[in-house]
Amino acid sequence: MMQQQDYPGSIDEILDDTVKYRKSLIKIMNRFKSFDPWDGTPAEKAAKLYWLHIRLCKIYDKKIYLSWDPAIIMGVESKNGGGWYQHLDRHIHLYGKVSVLTFLHEWGHVLYGSSEYAACWWSINLFRKIFPKNFNKLRHRAQGHLLAA
Ligand SMILES: [Zn+2]
Repeated sequence: MMQQQDYPGSIDEILDDTVKYRKSLIKIMNRFKSFDPWDGTPAEKAAKLYWLHIRLCKIYDKKIYLSWDPAIIMGVESKNGGGWYQHLDRHIHLYGKVSVLTFLHEWGHVLYGSSEYAACWWSINLFRKIFPKNFNKLRHRAQGHLLAA
């Protein structure tokens, strides 16, 4: 996560049932869900996210690069992970662990710029919509805006 100061104060603050997501996005997200994103080796999980990434690029007509900490591809995940989005070269970087929510958060930056509030709002509500069980499991562990997905 970047050192921005506009993170929402809590998860509850940004829960929003009125967010409009494109139908094509919901369709792709449900397909992604059917792949069981948390199942497999780190490299297999990364491949599933990459599958999703390619579709998001198409849906939003953007060419965004996605790169992983090589340790993930070598099969090593940490307890915590993170990522960042570099606007200048349109590049999402992910490290530490394969995290669906971190990935979606960085896509929130792709779509909404540097605002942490907007990135959290877009990604957390999407995550909740597609993965309600995972969301509820993670919610009680949340610290501020951070969900350990
Ligand atoms: Zn962020």
